[in-house]
Amino acid sequence: MAGLLIVGGGLAAARVVEGYREEGGEDEIVLLSLDEAPAYNRPPLSKGFLRGELEREQVLVHPPAWYEEQRAELRLGVEARRLDPQARAVELSGGERVGYERLVIASGALPRLPGMPGAELEGVHVYRTLADATAVRDAAGEAGAALVVGGSFIGLETSASLRRRGLEVTLVVRDELLFPALGSPELSRQLVELYRGEGVEVRTGETVAELTGDGRLAGARLASGRIVAVPLAIVGIGVEPATGWLAGSGLELDDGVVVDERWRSSLAGVYAVGDVARFLDPVAGRRRRIEHWSNASYAGKQLGRALAGAEAGYDRVAVFFTELFGRKLQVLGDVEGGFDELDLRGSLGEGRLLGAYLGAGALVGAVVAGHDPEVGQALEQLLRERAEPGNLAALGERDARVAAALGR
Ligand SMILES: Cc1cc2nc3c(=O)[nH]c(=O)nc-3n(C[C@H](O)[C@H](O)[C@H](O)COP(=O)(O)OP(=O)(O)OC[C@H]3O[C@@H](n4cnc5c(N)ncnc54)[C@H](O)[C@@H]3O)c2cc1C
Repeated sequence: MAGLLIVGGGLAAARVVEGYREEGGEDEIVLLSLDEAPAYNRPPLSKGFLRGELEREQVLVHPPAWYEEQRAELRLGVEARRLDPQARAVELSGGERVGYERLVIASGALPRLPGMPGAELEGVHVYRTLADATAVRDAAGEAGAALVVGGSFIGLETSASLRRRGLEVTLVVRDELLFPALGSPELSRQLVELYRGEGVEVRTGETVAELTGDGRLAGARLASGRIVAVPLAIVGIGVEPATGWLAGSGLELDDGVVVDERWRSSLAGVYAVGDVARFLDPVAGRRRRIEHWSNASYAGKQLGRALAGAEAGYDRVAVFFTELFGRKLQVLGDVEGGFDELDLRGSLGEGRLLGAYLGAGALVGAVVAGHDPEVGQALEQLLRERAEPGNLAALGERDARVAAALGR
């Protein structure tokens, strides 16, 4: 019986341990993780790690000895198969049952598997784990050319990193827009220009008809008829919350585990945090599931503190970042909740960009690249206030840091 059982060994899980111990929590902690490695930061996997600039140890959230220091038993390569809330136990793949007093679900997300013919060929990869990234990084050395499927941040970041390593890269995207989460034809156009300028063959509105090869990937036939010869492919077509093991438990699920602003689920003593959780975001004013590093890091820590008895809950403007051919792009607020217009200044090509997403006249989201960190801080504050009118000129009048970024 564990006082605090955590299913998942990723960033959110590590932050729960940190927050709990820092706040004086004394219960025994057990972490169960399907992964073979202790928690690591995934963002570098598609950036510096893939480019060969970082090693395995540099992406770990904590060295293995840290878990012992925290008196947290870390069990790697272990899969939770079933939750039995009546018995307060989690059943593992081998049949073993682990009891808990309180359970934290931090099982994150799992990549959608490619469904096209030939997806099983050696050389075709999804891109989620350190093992996936290591396999691609090793294969990239000899590959010469790669196919990347998917125009969201995994596809965009891995194709940029492979291109920087000198590979010929074909990026195939089903949608007409790159980075659809930004909801902006103009930003998509700028991204296409940037990627083509860097030598990536970008094909939007295109799909892969089949991957070909004899055991090993040799090429791809695209729906348009184009044939590409590639020994390496990355398929980055999104993720699903890792909730399969919770089916039948009675826990409320809705594209993730449904929790409140303090990560409490519908079952007593059961919490969920990170990519797997659909939580009530009081700043955005709606329930949402966020698949980003800053949320897993911040929310995990806050939940750990709350479990140790502290007054802690979600109180933050959501932020995520990406890095595309050396340009760091920060997205703030709730862009996916819907907006009416994007007021955009500057461009990715110029290396400086500032955009305000407006919903019913108020600021609901922002995108920024190439500006001082204070500009992001100013936007966070304005987003928290849901500043009106949200257009950039009015925001510049309210905040000198935004005005400076607008060049006034
Ligand atoms: C390549 C890559 C690049 C990224 N780059 C960025 C970025 O630039 N910016 C950004 O904001 N975000 C980025 N992200 C997203 C970010 O990494 C995630 O939001 C974050 O990892 C979520 O942490 P988590 O702990 O909730 O889930 P995860 O990191 O998914 O961890 C979940 C853990 O649960 C384990 N698990 C799953 N199912 C079970 C089970 N049944 N039993 C036991 N264990 C289980 C897994 O093995 C894993 O250890 C990136 C993600 C990837 C993959």
